[in-house]
Amino acid sequence: MSIYTNVDHFRSIETPFYYYDVALLQKTIRRAQEALGKGPYQIHYAFKANSNRRILNEVLSFGLGADCVSGNEVNRAIETGFDPNHILFAGVGKTDKEIKMGLEHEIFAFNVESLQELKVLEQLSGVTGKKIRFALRINPNVDAETHEYITTGKRDNKFGITLEELNLAIPLIKSLEHAKFIGIHFHIGSQIMDLSKFKELVDRCNEVQRLLLDYSFELPHINVGGGLGIDYDQPEANSIANFKGYFDCFKKNLVLLPNQTLHFELGRSLVAQCGSLIARVLYIKPAEQTSFMILDAGMTELIRPALYRSFHFIENLSSHESHEGSVVYDVVGPICETSDAFARSLLLPETKRGDILAIRSAGAYGEVMASQYNLRKIAPSIFSDDFK
Ligand SMILES: *Cc1c(COP(=O)(O)O)cnc(C)c1O
Repeated sequence: MSIYTNVDHFRSIETPFYYYDVALLQKTIRRAQEALGKGPYQIHYAFKANSNRRILNEVLSFGLGADCVSGNEVNRAIETGFDPNHILFAGVGKTDKEIKMGLEHEIFAFNVESLQELKVLEQLSGVTGKKIRFALRINPNVDAETHEYITTGKRDNKFGITLEELNLAIPLIKSLEHAKFIGIHFHIGSQIMDLSKFKELVDRCNEVQRLLLDYSFELPHINVGGGLGIDYDQPEANSIANFKGYFDCFKKNLVLLPNQTLHFELGRSLVAQCGSLIARVLYIKPAEQTSFMILDAGMTELIRPALYRSFHFIENLSSHESHEGSVVYDVVGPICETSDAFARSLLLPETKRGDILAIRSAGAYGEVMASQYNLRKIAPSIFSDDFK
């Protein structure tokens, strides 16, 4: 039985807080691994989706690698116990200090996002005497057609090296003495539900590979990034992402040579559904077209609706007798910003002050994006097995 159906679990706890269903997290990772199957494949978990220590421990226990986008994430990976050989470091703006941190830990590889960064890596590798491996992040000019703020693989996005620049990269790579070129990396965006976008990525990837192999580079590592979407509308019915369809798209269409390893960097699809933001209703305030349902959680705990206008399924855990939606609400937070709203004109069962709500699918890009705006306290996280 879902813990959400027994509100008694939550009644005595101060809200808001993040709630994580550990069994669902474990099941999700297991399903992803089963769907990928055996082969020269590796999944790296994208830390930025959720770097809560308990979540990272679970991820580590399944043997996944780490995909980091800051020096602190690299440090967190090392602290958690991830093998440096399974740590990747991406990001358009790595500082010298962060690069040195990665070199110090002798991480597996840097995903390089510009030619200038590559020159800096070469120089720092020379200065520190530390070996460095890098993959080129290629911007494949594939439009993932998700929200414009989470599309990363179009030519006019800041990420990666464009196909045009690749020609300039070739002589530069050939001239390197310290940094070792080990492969290519892509990441076209996030919350991608249309698998044909990944097929487009595979086509570009095959083209780039052919080009580089023609220049007699060896490419032992092909990294296709992450971005698989999840069902925000029906988190209960579709609690596990379409891992099979996603992985099959690459396994069937990507040219993988006998000496190559294929890497994936999944974030959202592994952790989104196991998390909810639990909040209490503070006030109901009638207005002309709607009623404002004012919660004790807001954009400081979950900024996705304010930032990307994204929808999260909202469930009133206190009113299970009346499943039918009957009142139109604007579900809003307490923060002094008009964008601080979880949903507008949403039909929900009649709701009262003190009711407990679950804002679902908050496991990815929720807690990690929390802020202290309005001098709020960072909400704690609670795990399903804390209730046993
Ligand atoms: C954010 C990010 C990911 C993970 O994306 P999801 O949509 O959460 O799967 C993977 N790789 C890189 C380089 C990223 O920046």
